[in-house]
Amino acid sequence: MATRVAPSMTGYLHLGHLYHLLWVYAYAERMGVPVCLRIEDHDRSRARPAYEKALFADLAAFGMAWRGDVLRQQDDVTFYDQQVAMLQDAGLVYGCACSRRELADLQLAGAPELFYPGRCSEKKLPLEGHTVRFRVGPDRMRFKDERLGWQEHVPAQQCGDFAIRDRTGQYTYQFCCVCDDIQQEIRHVVRGEDVLPSTGRQLQLFHAFDAPAPTYLHHPLLCDEAGNKWSKRQHAVSLRSRLEKGVSPEQLLAEAVGLHQPISLATALECVTGQLNQSAS
Ligand code: GLU
Repeated sequence: MATRVAPSMTGYLHLGHLYHLLWVYAYAERMGVPVCLRIEDHDRSRARPAYEKALFADLAAFGMAWRGDVLRQQDDVTFYDQQVAMLQDAGLVYGCACSRRELADLQLAGAPELFYPGRCSEKKLPLEGHTVRFRVGPDRMRFKDERLGWQEHVPAQQCGDFAIRDRTGQYTYQFCCVCDDIQQEIRHVVRGEDVLPSTGRQLQLFHAFDAPAPTYLHHPLLCDEAGNKWSKRQHAVSLRSRLEKGVSPEQLLAEAVGLHQPISLATALECVTGQLNQSAS
C-alpha cells in the first residue's frame, strides 16, 4: 500500500523537486502509507552517478526517509524483459523500423506530442534490433484524479502506439514506470501535472498486464518568479549547490512552499497538506 518518489537521474534536484517531494510525503502521512524510492535511470545516455549521489545527500538533508530497497532501473531488466514477452505472447507489441527522421515527417504541425500512426504495425518485424511499440487500444481511459477530478484520455488519439523499448534495448519511461509500480506494489501515485497526459496510456499497460492500477494525484508545478516551470538544466539553482553554499534545508523548505522564514519539514508538510485538503476528493 505504498506511494513512491521516482526522480529522473538526468539532473540535480531543484526547488520544484522539493515541492514535489513535499506532496508525496504529505500524502503518505495523510494516508498512513510508506514512501518507496525509485532511481529513474532508464535513460543510460543521460543518467549520471553524480545526480544519484546528490539525490541521496538531498534526501538526507531534508530528513526524508523511504521504506524498503531502492529500485534502480538499470540494475536488473529481467522483469522488464518478462513483461515484454508477456505482451508479445498477447500480440500487443511489434517491432518498428521507422527512423527519427521518418517519425518527424509523420507528425502533424502543432501536435502536442509525438504521434505514431502505426506504419510498421503489420510488418511483423522482429522485436530485437527494432523499436518495440505497444498497440494501444481504442478505449477512452477514464480515471478520477484525487486532485483534479475525472479525467479522460484517449491514447489512440494522443500518441498512438507508443515506444516501450528503443532499438538499442533501452526501455522507456512509460514502460518502466508501470513495471516498477507493479514491482514495488505502488498503490498511490503522486506526481506533477506535467506527466498527467501519460496516465491513460499507463493505465492501458496495467490492463494489458492484468495488474491493478494505482490511484493518481497530479499536483501543480512550482514556477519561478517569472512564472516559468523549474527546469533541471538550471544547475546554478540546484538544491545541492545551494546547500553546499550554506543555505539551510529549512530555508529551502520555506521557499518551496512560498514562505520567507526558514521552516521545519513538519511545517512544510502541513502547508502542503493544506493544499492537499483543498483537492477535488
Ligand atoms: N521521473 C519522473 C519525473 O520525475 C517520474 C514521473 C512519475 O512519477 O511517473 O517526472
